[in-house]
Amino acid sequence: MDKLYTFGKYLRKKFNKNIKKVPVSIPGFTCPNIDGTVARGGCVFCENESFSPNFQKEKFTLNLDSKENPLLQKQLNALNKQFFDTVRNYKPIYNPEEYLVYFQSFTNTYAPFETLKALYDTALTFPDVIGLSIGTRTDSIEDKTLNYLQDLSKNYEIWIEYGIQTSNDKTLKRINRGHDFENIEKTIKKTKDLGLNVCGHLIFGLPGETQKDMLKSVKDTIALGVDSIKFHPLYVTDNTLLALEYKKGKFTPISEEDYIETLVKAIKMLPDNISVQRMTAGTKNLLAPDWCRDKATQMSHIHKALKKSGIKL
Ligand code: SF4
Repeated sequence: MDKLYTFGKYLRKKFNKNIKKVPVSIPGFTCPNIDGTVARGGCVFCENESFSPNFQKEKFTLNLDSKENPLLQKQLNALNKQFFDTVRNYKPIYNPEEYLVYFQSFTNTYAPFETLKALYDTALTFPDVIGLSIGTRTDSIEDKTLNYLQDLSKNYEIWIEYGIQTSNDKTLKRINRGHDFENIEKTIKKTKDLGLNVCGHLIFGLPGETQKDMLKSVKDTIALGVDSIKFHPLYVTDNTLLALEYKKGKFTPISEEDYIETLVKAIKMLPDNISVQRMTAGTKNLLAPDWCRDKATQMSHIHKALKKSGIKL
């Protein structure tokens, strides 16, 4: 790729409109890597508040074995409130014309099918919503859900965002991911075979990884046939397993220079049809590294490095 193909450009090209993603966080949703189904404690870096602006402090536990969901109305209310609050905030800043509802926090296909269907269907009734983007794990999506999303994709823009993080099984184990790369390959192939859009998330700076490992993950992710990629550096937030390791001196975060050098190489590897949805991330609850504190400064350094390497913005 010698010209940065952002997700915004993809949407503009396809719909000729200014489209924004509206992140939502559904109360009661959890993750099989947290609730003990796959593991407990989650990925070493997981503190869900850190990556969801709409995170709810109130916690429930959904009974996955039951068809009845006493929380459903509360979940629908939260979805409604978060969507309209965010749209109200977006209007004066971005003046969007249409929206994708982004189910962001936790594992958004890990709930009884009837619950998922009710939430997805409701989101699609909101004004100017043209589709959904659903963040999840590759070990937590049932065929029934995939088939339903395939049906929806006939009339809506449907994306599934899978956390890949790395293609290195040793690292996946080290970060307590709870599944291996074979699982990622199998699920993404199945999703692509159904014609659904897939965005893969990758993290640079995972414990023990060299730049060679990180770029191998990019190569392996491209080979999966994903349509879009999100990159971000591994940062440490409080109340995570990684924070404990960091405080004991057992984890050193990636430097900004190394991150940007790896990112530029990664973007150069991408074919022209894979859009880039995210190049870094910022967070409020940051412990380290300090350079991750300010996203605007990071973005300006990244843009400078991309231009210097000959990639047009
Ligand atoms: S898959 Fe996501 S929600 Fe689950 S433990 Fe890992 S980071 Fe947390």
